[in-house]
Amino acid sequence: MTTLSTQHIRPRWLTDSRQATGDNSQSVFFAIRGEHHDGHAFIGNLYDRGVRQFVIERSALTPDRRAELTRYADAEFIEVDSSLTLLQQLATEHRRLFPLPVIGITGSNGKTIVKEWLAQLLADDYVIAKSPRSYNSQLGVPLSVRELGERHTLGIFEAGISRPHEMQTLEPIIQPTIGIFTNIGPAHDEGFRSRKQKIAEKLRLFVHADTLIYCADQTDVADEVRMLLKAVNPGIRLVTWSLNGNDATYRATLTGTRLTLTAVKVERPAIEVDVPFTDAASVENLLHCLVAVQTIHPLTASTLDRRLKRLRPVSMRLEQKEGIGNSVLIDDSYSNDLAGLQLALRFMNQQRSRDRRVLILSDVLQSGLPDDDLYAQIADQVHNAEISLFVGVGPVLSRHRDLFPPDSLFYESTAQWLAEFPVDRVHESVVLVKGARTYAFEQIVNRLQRKVHGTRLEIDLDALTHNLNYYREKVGPATKIMVMVKAFAYGSGSAEVAQLLQYHRVDYLAVAYADEGVTLRQNGVTLPIMVMNPSPETFPVLLDYQLQPELYSQSLLTDWGRFAGESKGDVPPIHLKIDTGMHRLGFLESELPALIDYLTAHPTLHVETVFSHLAGADEAQFNNFSTQQYDTFIRCTDALQTGLGYLPTRHLLNSAGIVRFPNFRLDMVRLGIGLYGVESSGIESSAVRPVGTLKTVVSQVKTIPVGESVGYSRSGQLNHTAQIATIAIGYADGFDRRLGNGVGAVWINGHRCPTVGNVCMDMTMVDATNVPVVAGDDAVIFGPDQPISGLAKQIGTIPYEILTGVSERVKRVFFKE
Ligand SMILES: *Cc1c(COP(=O)(O)O)cnc(C)c1O
Repeated sequence: MTTLSTQHIRPRWLTDSRQATGDNSQSVFFAIRGEHHDGHAFIGNLYDRGVRQFVIERSALTPDRRAELTRYADAEFIEVDSSLTLLQQLATEHRRLFPLPVIGITGSNGKTIVKEWLAQLLADDYVIAKSPRSYNSQLGVPLSVRELGERHTLGIFEAGISRPHEMQTLEPIIQPTIGIFTNIGPAHDEGFRSRKQKIAEKLRLFVHADTLIYCADQTDVADEVRMLLKAVNPGIRLVTWSLNGNDATYRATLTGTRLTLTAVKVERPAIEVDVPFTDAASVENLLHCLVAVQTIHPLTASTLDRRLKRLRPVSMRLEQKEGIGNSVLIDDSYSNDLAGLQLALRFMNQQRSRDRRVLILSDVLQSGLPDDDLYAQIADQVHNAEISLFVGVGPVLSRHRDLFPPDSLFYESTAQWLAEFPVDRVHESVVLVKGARTYAFEQIVNRLQRKVHGTRLEIDLDALTHNLNYYREKVGPATKIMVMVKAFAYGSGSAEVAQLLQYHRVDYLAVAYADEGVTLRQNGVTLPIMVMNPSPETFPVLLDYQLQPELYSQSLLTDWGRFAGESKGDVPPIHLKIDTGMHRLGFLESELPALIDYLTAHPTLHVETVFSHLAGADEAQFNNFSTQQYDTFIRCTDALQTGLGYLPTRHLLNSAGIVRFPNFRLDMVRLGIGLYGVESSGIESSAVRPVGTLKTVVSQVKTIPVGESVGYSRSGQLNHTAQIATIAIGYADGFDRRLGNGVGAVWINGHRCPTVGNVCMDMTMVDATNVPVVAGDDAVIFGPDQPISGLAKQIGTIPYEILTGVSERVKRVFFKE
């Protein structure tokens, strides 16, 4: 391929058309073809937004596309075999310009936390470039490394892989001089033949490193390091630690919160520090950090102690919350740097429910850039993100106020903001709150957040995306996806979920009732929406909001036909439901001739799709029946095609069907519960990630003697002296009353606490005997470690009912890493 240098490529790299806000004269767009997206499809759109340089792939250049490109005469097109490969090569080239120490981190868990903590511990000693959030993929790594500049004195990048050979690409981009292998767990096992292969692949990150840090207690990692890594990189220095007395460079012991680290094989004074967290995973992460610090830049115990106190549990997630005055808050109060700001602004941009956008930003610390450059870059990002109101907090931002729009507001400190900011300025807006740790922006979030009662359903947007991609991969690029967001998106919050789906460009949404569709439209959702239970009274609403009816009977169709005939404006297309055996809604096969007659007599009624629903896709015992339904469906759609002279889009499968009957996927599938993290066929249950975590708080803790009773009707008889915790969730929140009297349980600080006595309307009592708990602690009802399916089984129902049963008064909190 042609050799292209970094100089030739314009400095603002775009890999996703949605990033192209603001001024694009300095932008280059890398058109990347993925399994489901083709960046080439957006060239025209980007051209219209001012992009004039494009990296495109030869194989994507169909004659039609070539013809299209000739229309953009003043744009430059750079043809390559793979845009991603070019981007990776450019990042590799860029990395070579900076001969600085770089820490490369890989492993199954803890990569992001170790990176963030290490960056915090060393922030006073180095100017650090690091991957924003968990940007560790084939695309994320080059984009992260690209941020390296003259000013940096240390790089910290993480690398994540899910398939063999991926590390081979990432190693030259990161070129780590020091490695950290965090640990090896079961995650992503699918892509690898064995654990051994997975370890071996990850170790490729260190084939040219000078030093590798790992835990000697991870014996399978230690084995592979000796067998494989030492063979290809014999000079590498291995620095290890052990909590279990294994042979290692450092021996660690933990007593309460006191951690001692004794150098056994190197000359270093022993250090003894207080650790802020003592759970096993945090201790492991901390030890990686401490050993890394001692290896590259030894600090005294008192300095370390001071810096450890500043560490925060890494909730680096970006949380979306309900704000005051009908605002939407995006809480990113954990850290502030240029790359992270860009990601947060992009996330904000995806939130389309409010037109007004407010950014509250603190000074950016330790960037290494001269202030003038730094704040000019920030002002540029603010400009590109089309912010309606900019609010700067901190002395340096205040000094640079001239760079920002004239109506911006500035405060010297968080305290001044708290005293003076007119909070009504955030009403009806999306508000991004982003601040460096020391600015304690959680106080700002606290002020702007609508107060919630302790119970909340946390929705993991990354898990939703993961699940969507899993099903997309299953059905392949030729089959469209309609996502069911009925019943408040299975309890997960329909507007937010729909927006995410719109961002990921699914093809259709479906709701049960017209008003659900209206809510989506009012929140900026523009995707086609099918309404499954339209009634003639709602037809005008369907027309006003461009919602498409599912018509399932001749009488409903006739009503619609009459309405459509009398209406002005764009009448939405329709969807026909065929009853092939579910016997709920739909035209029976015997009713098709009349249906076809009617439609041919009313050719303006356009049938967009035709579909049916399987009655037993969840269960293998109904496979024959499902196949019979498929055959009936095909007969019906063939008849329709003959009668209408065109074939509408056909769809049959729900989530379980997608997994069980890959051959029946036709032109589209209807994804429901699988998106929300329940793989209901049970065939590939570990492939989806749980999306929701239902949590509440402990209101009171008390010790009640044996022989007493707890709760209504005295049904909780104590046969032991018990520590009883009262939690703030009851059947009115969706905590089913059948879970009472020990049938169900919640988890407090990792311990299972069974219910005691009857569940009340707003409260429940649980047995927390021998469990460390105080009022204010969290209690988890379901979540990634407490599957919904188990809960459903305990009371003889299905996960669908648990999910949709979480009442609307429970606040939904959305987050992403
Ligand atoms: C709800 C629904 C689905 C989705 O079903 P899941 O089992 O949740 O995947 C599909 N089709 C129709 C008609 C539905 O009502």
